[in-house]
Parts: sequence; structure tokens; C-alpha cells
Amino acid sequence: MHRKGMNPDNVTPDDILCDFCGTPAWANDTPCVEGHQGSIICGKCLTVAYELAVNQKDKVETEDQCRMCLEHRDENGWQGAYEPIATICVRCVKQASGALNKSKHWAWTKPSET
Ligand SMILES: [Zn+2]
Ligand SMILES: [Zn+2]
Repeated sequence: MHRKGMNPDNVTPDDILCDFCGTPAWANDTPCVEGHQGSIICGKCLTVAYELAVNQKDKVETEDQCRMCLEHRDENGWQGAYEPIATICVRCVKQASGALNKSKHWAWTKPSET
């Protein structure tokens, strides 16, 4: 997401925050994946989301749409702790994990499937 009060004509890496933990992932050189409408999930959140929603099948039930794909699915995934609370669906967790895992730019390893 974009930091509140940022200058839209001069977006800096500091202005791009992980929707799920509020970390300026780009500025910190943290692996991250972009979703729709400027949404971002960082690698740290993705690891937690993958372990909970995919491996442990510990999914949240919410009427909210997924912040990354902007759709609501019965299969929701995981929610961050940063206000406003963002939800990511299981499909996006898997897709983002696959993309980040393959990315040569980032050293990020997908949690092993259990
Ligand atoms: Zn994060
Ligand atoms: Zn999604």
C-alpha cells in the first residue's frame, strides 16, 4: 500500500508499505510481491501466511476481499496485523510464493509443504 500523505508525483521506496505488516519493504530491500492497486506483501508475511494458510490450513473466514487480487473467495487465507487489516486468499499466497521463490532478484525460499 502507499504510505498515507505521500506525494503521488514523487513516490519513493519509503512510500511503498507491505499491506500486511506496514514495513517499507522496498526501502528495506525486503523481498515482496505486488498485487492489484498497489498492494504489496513482503516475504516475511508471505512465509507466515504460507505456513498458516497452506501448511496448517488455518484459514481466516471473512467477508473481506483479498487485498492482492481484489476478489472474495470462500477460501480466504490469512490476515495481517496492520490497520486497515488486509486479507490475502490462499490462491494468492500460493501464487505469490511461487513467483517469489522463482525470482532471481530475491533470495526467498518457499516454506516446505508439510
Ligand atoms: Zn509484511
Ligand atoms: Zn487473492
